[in-house]
Amino acid sequence: MLAMSRLQLLGVTVIVSALAALLALVAFSPPAQANHSWNGYHWARTSNPFMLNLGDNVSSTWDSYLGTTSADWTKSTVLNTKVVPSQKNRATCRPTSGRVEVCNYTYGANGWLGLAQVWISGKHIVQGTTKVNDTYFNRARYNTPSWRNLVMCQEVGHTLGLDHQDEINDNPNLGTCMDYTNDPNGGAGGASATDPSNEHPNQHDYDQLVAIYAHLDNTTTVGSTSAANTMPPAANQGNFNSRAEWGRKIHESPNGQLELHERDFGGGKKIYTFVILA
Ligand SMILES: [Zn+2]
Ligand SMILES: [Zn+2]
Repeated sequence: MLAMSRLQLLGVTVIVSALAALLALVAFSPPAQANHSWNGYHWARTSNPFMLNLGDNVSSTWDSYLGTTSADWTKSTVLNTKVVPSQKNRATCRPTSGRVEVCNYTYGANGWLGLAQVWISGKHIVQGTTKVNDTYFNRARYNTPSWRNLVMCQEVGHTLGLDHQDEINDNPNLGTCMDYTNDPNGGAGGASATDPSNEHPNQHDYDQLVAIYAHLDNTTTVGSTSAANTMPPAANQGNFNSRAEWGRKIHESPNGQLELHERDFGGGKKIYTFVILA
């Protein structure tokens, strides 16, 4: 019978521990091209590139940012966005079937800086809203071009079917608005001169959109005035600015600045609310 010496036993233990650590690392490392679509939700359409209208319910302060966001996402090969006139009450910012309504307003000290709300039927997006809260954007901390670009770009990005690429606020910027950060302009004003700005999409976002919209559907929700008719009445009532109407919180970022809420009406009908907290 072979008896192990204490030293040998220690050696085996070290090797086993190292292997376990290595395996854990492999298991939890995201692949280089991780999937940052958001549950595969997408606008139904029968051809690419499709045209998504962004209803302009923003004041002059925000017009250039909405224009920048629209131009940024239109660089995608599978979709184009167009800013179109809209007449929504900016305080309530009700959705319109088949498009995304974008609003700014002093929504109050309710905790949220920006919201993206997306109405889902099955796997398809039927309508969306993006809201930016001037109560916070009027304060010095957020009253900067880089914060305005980050939030506008990210919230509209969610309404296209994209999720965050990164949610840790104090790590190096990835150079995309889908990466939450406390330093949106990166090197221009941050600690590291080499940190890229997170004010616009990056190539990974465009690649992700290509993947999400690779298939074609035989129905269309984008631009459809009836796509949202299948939603239950409750999905078009109530005050969606209020946390009380968002349903269950299903995700929170490590620092708690980002949240995702799901309100499930059954039958595949849902409202998702992406939140950036102030
Ligand atoms: Zn589809
Ligand atoms: Zn977000």
